[in-house]
Amino acid sequence: MLRRAFGQCPDSSLGSLCSRLLPMKAYRASILSFTPDREQGSCAVLEDDGLLVVGPDPLGRQRVQASGPYHQLKAHFQAVPTENLHGRVIAPGFIDMHNHFAQTNVIGSPADGLLPWLEHYTFPEEQRFSSAQYSTEAARFFLDELLRNGVTTALSFATCSTESVEALFCEAQQRRVRLISGLCLMDRHAPAGVLNRAAPDGSRNACEQSLIDSEVLLQKWHGRDRLGYAVTPRFAPSCSEEQLRGAGYLAERYPEAWIQSHVAESRDEIAWARQLFPTSRSYLATYADFGLLRRRAVYAHCIHFDDQDRTLMRDSGAVAAVSPTSNLFLGSGFFDSAAADRIGLQYGLASDVGGGTSFSPFHTMLAAYYVAREGQSKVGRSLSPQQLWWQHTAGAARALGLEGVVGNLRPGCEADFIVLNPQATPLLARRSAQANNLDELLFAMIVLGDDRLIERTVISQAQ
Ligand SMILES: [Zn+2]
Repeated sequence: MLRRAFGQCPDSSLGSLCSRLLPMKAYRASILSFTPDREQGSCAVLEDDGLLVVGPDPLGRQRVQASGPYHQLKAHFQAVPTENLHGRVIAPGFIDMHNHFAQTNVIGSPADGLLPWLEHYTFPEEQRFSSAQYSTEAARFFLDELLRNGVTTALSFATCSTESVEALFCEAQQRRVRLISGLCLMDRHAPAGVLNRAAPDGSRNACEQSLIDSEVLLQKWHGRDRLGYAVTPRFAPSCSEEQLRGAGYLAERYPEAWIQSHVAESRDEIAWARQLFPTSRSYLATYADFGLLRRRAVYAHCIHFDDQDRTLMRDSGAVAAVSPTSNLFLGSGFFDSAAADRIGLQYGLASDVGGGTSFSPFHTMLAAYYVAREGQSKVGRSLSPQQLWWQHTAGAARALGLEGVVGNLRPGCEADFIVLNPQATPLLARRSAQANNLDELLFAMIVLGDDRLIERTVISQAQ
């Protein structure tokens, strides 16, 4: 039985890793996971008295070894140290599909919509990230705040300075956060201090230098531990045609890297993009014209779309990062999830901090519910609690091409999870005690939850 208590290493070539026995650990609690066999609205499974067993794979990364009813699994894992978390819910770590680490300090800044908000708050703050020291301090706070809120995977914008990218990756690597980021590409239409920089000796302009820097950073960081690189044009109006063409070239050369950008957030932005790229069929089509729509391409917002845009996204494999607190805060509009579902456009949820108003996935899920309910500008509907939670975990993982890797607690997934305490506040304790089924319990946490609900965030550790 002792053998069961330790991770086994089947590949003898990994001798150095096998030279020590790596411990497994089990947790007894209610366990939330998602089954891919059912519709989103009924895809969640809560094992009331469950056992979650985690242990290392041959490379030492902690993965879920087993998850299911305690009474069925306990005999198989008797020798595994088991922590009893009675009254707690273990759930997959959240996935934030879009945010900006350099905007932590401007969260909650009042402005008259997207473009004034960028001009008055965001760009002045992002200028400060040319300092490696400033970037490192900000990255530490940002990543710790993500973890405190139960986010274990994130797709994040850095700024146009290589220092900001290096700092974010370094700090994420230390914390084992599954982070995807990249150098922001922006060579026009912003103050000089936030744009990409030319080579110091003048041998290359900002566009050329930004593309070279992107490739160097990609080769250094993509696939290193749990990190991934995203080719990151900020949004089409901020990039010259040459820069977008170069980004498309990188996206084609490195198909396993991600792409992240913004599209169709506000009507002013769309009008501007249409002026700058008049030959494209739509704002979204501009990205297609430069080779930037493909699998693993993630576009924030996707609000003001027609069905041709949705079809283009679906057929290219690109996905939407829906950012409801940001869209409500800036008054940008309402993502039409019913239309997206009708066409088959994939999407997941995102905080979009600092345009978004909270790091908390509970606030994001609740805002997504409000946005879906809105029925004046589109068809309103109620998203089910299971659907909302799925969109921030397993559904987001699927959209990112990380299904079966993160966002779920099925065997083989990386062991990123959170421990929730439904008694965390008096009102939550009172309301959750009245929950008659899984939807009512999940919705009580979505509506009333915040960082107080998260007792612990556990990251898949390398041994
Ligand atoms: Zn954004």
